[in-house]
Amino acid sequence: FTTVDILGIKVASVTMCQAVEAATHFIEAKNKSMIATANAEMLMRATKDNELGEILNKVNLVVPDGAGTVWASNYLGVPMPERVAGFDLVQKLLAAAPQKGWRIFFFGSAPGVAEKAKLKAMADYPGIQIAGVRNGFFTLADEKKIVEEINIAKPDILLAALGVPKQEKWLYTHLHELNCSLAIGVGGTLDVMAG
Ligand code: UDP
Repeated sequence: FTTVDILGIKVASVTMCQAVEAATHFIEAKNKSMIATANAEMLMRATKDNELGEILNKVNLVVPDGAGTVWASNYLGVPMPERVAGFDLVQKLLAAAPQKGWRIFFFGSAPGVAEKAKLKAMADYPGIQIAGVRNGFFTLADEKKIVEEINIAKPDILLAALGVPKQEKWLYTHLHELNCSLAIGVGGTLDVMAG
């Protein structure tokens, strides 16, 4: 994809449809890929947080989440076709999951939220396999067990809802030891699904 440099981060100029296709390709390639959904707040934060900025420039795809990102890109002269919101991208992948046989793990949010989001996913997308859930409050000492939990569940897609930049840093740090094909930091998505 064409990328646009916004505040030092290469954001892909993609439609939602292209983002879903890319995600599908990542899942099928089983290559431990990572997608970040960049809104203006994340891009601003990355100008001060070098670790976050480096991660965003190393992940497989950064999609333009938010009107601010789309506006900045258009302003810089590279038209961004549309906004690819993390929540919407996740719903498209969950919708495709039953037919594709993809297993999903929900990691993050307050205790109980991921369980509720799982029930919502099962109601909205019949046949979906939510391979596991884990809340997003933990200490360093818990991390080994969390990695094990995820690996036992063998998800194709790992959704991490730990907030920015914690989710990007956690996923990038642990991706090599995680038994999953695609990881996405999804912010408040599980909260919204849980209602
Ligand atoms: N969260 C978490 N662990 C933490 C901090 C936050 O699981 O240590 C969760 C929080 O409960 C919420 C999500 O991360 O569900 C962050 O949502 P928010 O909309 O604030 O994300 P952002 O605006 O950073 O994308």
